[in-house]
Amino acid sequence: MFFRPNPRRTLVAALLCLFSHLCFAQQLALSFDDGFNPEAHPGARQWNAQLLATLEARGIQAALFPSLARLGNGAGLELLGAWAQAGHMIGNHTASHRSLAAPEVSLDGFISDVETADEALRGLSTFVPMLRFPYLKEGDTLAKRDGMRAWMKRRGYRPAPVSIDASDWYYNRVYAGHLAAGETGKAGQVKQRYIDHLLDRAAYYDGLARRVLGRSPTHVMLLHTNQLNADALGDVIDALNAKGWRVVPARSAFADRLYDSPPDTLPAGESIIWAQARAAGIPCLRYPAEDAVYEAPRLREAGLIP
Ligand SMILES: [Zn+2]
Repeated sequence: MFFRPNPRRTLVAALLCLFSHLCFAQQLALSFDDGFNPEAHPGARQWNAQLLATLEARGIQAALFPSLARLGNGAGLELLGAWAQAGHMIGNHTASHRSLAAPEVSLDGFISDVETADEALRGLSTFVPMLRFPYLKEGDTLAKRDGMRAWMKRRGYRPAPVSIDASDWYYNRVYAGHLAAGETGKAGQVKQRYIDHLLDRAAYYDGLARRVLGRSPTHVMLLHTNQLNADALGDVIDALNAKGWRVVPARSAFADRLYDSPPDTLPAGESIIWAQARAAGIPCLRYPAEDAVYEAPRLREAGLIP
């Protein structure tokens, strides 16, 4: 039996492809850090299920980077199984979630932290040897930065940087506080401002990328496993789509050559776009690139924090 291409169907497919490229100018993948701890947060199992249900409903393959310290006493490890079962890639975010930029954290201590997490996570079916540095900090000295890069090369590890950084952890803290106080109206306003914040950061880092790289790469956005994302993810994806963003699988995003070009900066880390811009001498880059201090004044002005 021979398969004959149907000219009409081919034309429709070509038009659809062209249309989707016109509609979606930029691409990004979603990555989630930390993992849930059901012992610390009674809602963790439900939030985990909500995130996975939204990703499944949208047909999105994301990446998860768990840190053992954020999973509680093994209870959070169980929840990772559902991510693997759904096909999401799982990487390494260290055992104790320490910053390599902290002077008291040695290179050897950090490496053993990565190895401990590797042993605990490697058995998951979708595990990939990729490292997401806690706080996106990749070392405060050349010896630590380059020592870690050399270790990763020897051990077949790839870095898993983000290109779009944001402060979802801070919005989550404010959002959860309002919900706990029964202030659902205020929580809803925080959620809306959070979606605007992500759109703003996506546009900012894409603009910076076009300036530094001369192109729009396949971005990787940093998010965390938290209550706000569990509640808002569907709306976040809708808002991104409406602004011309297409969400692509995390695996294909990391294939972009951007993620294999370690920037020459110290302290090392932040968004890889930010670091490339710093290395290229682009002025007026704030440090840290993202933080609560930039977001709090807006929420205060709107009466959403004291
Ligand atoms: Zn983290």
